[in-house]
Amino acid sequence: MSKPLAYLHDQIEQWKSEGTYQRLRVLESASAAESRFDGKDVINLASNNYLGLTTHPKLLEAAIAAVKRYGAGSGAVRTISGTMSLHLALEERIAAFKNVEACVVFQSGFAANAGTVSAILGPDDHIVSDELNHASIVDGCRLSRAKIHVFAHKDVAAAESILASLAGAGGKKLLISDGVFSMDGDIGPLPGLVAAAEKHGAIMMVDDAHSSGVLGRNGRGTIDHFGLHGRVDIQVGTLSKAIGVLGGYVCGSRDLIEFLYHRARPFLFSTSHPPAVAAACLAAFDVLEREPERIDALWANARYFKHGLASAGFNTGISETPITPVIVGEAALAHRLSRELFEEGVLATGIGFPTVAKGKARVRTIVASTHSRADLDRALEVFEKVGKRLEIL
Ligand SMILES: *Cc1c(COP(=O)(O)O)cnc(C)c1O
Repeated sequence: MSKPLAYLHDQIEQWKSEGTYQRLRVLESASAAESRFDGKDVINLASNNYLGLTTHPKLLEAAIAAVKRYGAGSGAVRTISGTMSLHLALEERIAAFKNVEACVVFQSGFAANAGTVSAILGPDDHIVSDELNHASIVDGCRLSRAKIHVFAHKDVAAAESILASLAGAGGKKLLISDGVFSMDGDIGPLPGLVAAAEKHGAIMMVDDAHSSGVLGRNGRGTIDHFGLHGRVDIQVGTLSKAIGVLGGYVCGSRDLIEFLYHRARPFLFSTSHPPAVAAACLAAFDVLEREPERIDALWANARYFKHGLASAGFNTGISETPITPVIVGEAALAHRLSRELFEEGVLATGIGFPTVAKGKARVRTIVASTHSRADLDRALEVFEKVGKRLEIL
């Protein structure tokens, strides 16, 4: 009997022997500062729930009310019969919050990036992209069939020289960067990139997944953080991280949004959010505006924890945000560190190739506003103990 998928099994066995095979941890409680995984209560440093909104009473109430009034699902894709008044209310809310003309919400941040880049560009066009941009941007670039020019991480001069070299090339040009890079927690050099895009007539696009709800006034993101309102053509954000629910959005001109309504494939070919999702997201924007102290607590915790890890002697890279990597080198060591942290009551995920470069494997930590000082002190103690045991320190 032929087994055409046997190569999958062989690959999995190889991962197991290399120590990079990852069993999925099972969350048995809500995602919160302390959660129960695989039967064990642990301090959760592995979620993107920066502001504790996954369990905020206002979001829960809004979701329950929406289910009761509008049902469990939307019934169709947006362009057929699946545009509910809640979807439009959320898009208007986000557009006002971000100070732009219009907004379209996608099922995820991944769909927003991949759907937008592939819709607005074609084979005659050029994309200038940071080497560490998120996978959803990379996939969108590939789907567009435009020519992709990658520049070294955060190297504005390199991006500009690529744009200059394309001066006579014809076609549209897109300059694209993450606002905050998800594996290192560093902030994109947006003022320089925006100036380069303006100088060379390129479309400027920023993916603010990890900055939505984290950076800028009330969490308006990196464009607000740098005071670049009106100078970034396409802003992507996510509703799945600090917002605490699920989804992605694109903000920009009314024309951009109308165009995406007609051409973005996830919008056209995949069902819209259930009403509970849209309603909970709407409630989350109320919380961002009414409870800015959550963002202050997030940053206070981030500074405290980052300082603690660095003074213990860990290599925490170049982070400037609540994402703090503990870089250890080999993937097998990162996964081992993660496993032993878990045994001691701390969840922080090991991340290796292909998510990060070979030799730069790490355990990534993300603190939340909802961690107590006692949580952070306990986590630092555990990191130090396990770090010494594994001779990382
Ligand atoms: C998480 C992330 C996404 C994807 O967002 P989802 O809503 O989870 O699909 C996109 N871009 C970046 C930079 C991210 O970190």
